[in-house]
Amino acid sequence: PIPVITIDGPSGVGKGTTCALVAEQLGWHLLDSGSIYRALALKVMKASIDTKDEALLIETAKSLQLSFTVADDGTTQIKLDGEVVNEQLRSEACGDMASKIAPIPAIRQALFIRQKAFQRHPGLVADGRDMGTVVFKSAPLKVFLTANAEERAKRRHKQLKLKGVDVKIRALLEDIEARDFRDSTRKVAPLVPAADAHVIDTSDLSIKQVLAQIMNLVEQ
Ligand code: C5P
Repeated sequence: PIPVITIDGPSGVGKGTTCALVAEQLGWHLLDSGSIYRALALKVMKASIDTKDEALLIETAKSLQLSFTVADDGTTQIKLDGEVVNEQLRSEACGDMASKIAPIPAIRQALFIRQKAFQRHPGLVADGRDMGTVVFKSAPLKVFLTANAEERAKRRHKQLKLKGVDVKIRALLEDIEARDFRDSTRKVAPLVPAADAHVIDTSDLSIKQVLAQIMNLVEQ
């Protein structure tokens, strides 16, 4: 079987950066599963779909025209209905909408196969909420990253500031806590570490230290 490393955890914990570095070091493929949920959310917003209309949401998830193309420099271009949407997907509105539609079981099911398709030679690093518990249940290495909410709000703040976006830490903290609550209390695929996951609390660790711990686990 093609090896998979799953890296799950709450929003703002630094999964995206960590996973990209692990994938780069190993020369493996990378799945940012959140971007698939975000793409569906973007479609829902663009098409002004009523989030109460579950049947239409599910139909939209099934027929989503979404593609991921990796360029020579390693960056991934995400296209929704033929349009490059990388930047649009990163908005807080998109993340928020994603977490509102992600609890619907049939939506998760519709997006399951798209995630599975990323499992290609020589290996995959899968970033998400339920990579180790649902999508890649039999992965030989599972990691679960945590950090307290204040620290995650600070990290997000720093990241946004670099992009020239000035948001109050307080507002980010509220957003993170609301998202945590939705993600961890939903009935299907709630955000919990897999029983066989290595939990790493990154609150007092640098990205470099987290990366070193994961690479250590990979070598074991
Ligand atoms: O990780 P990211 O912030 O991009 O994810 C956005 C939202 O998509 C999450 O808050 C979560 O509700 C949902 N999601 C999920 N399962 C995944 C990845 C993301 O439910 N594997």
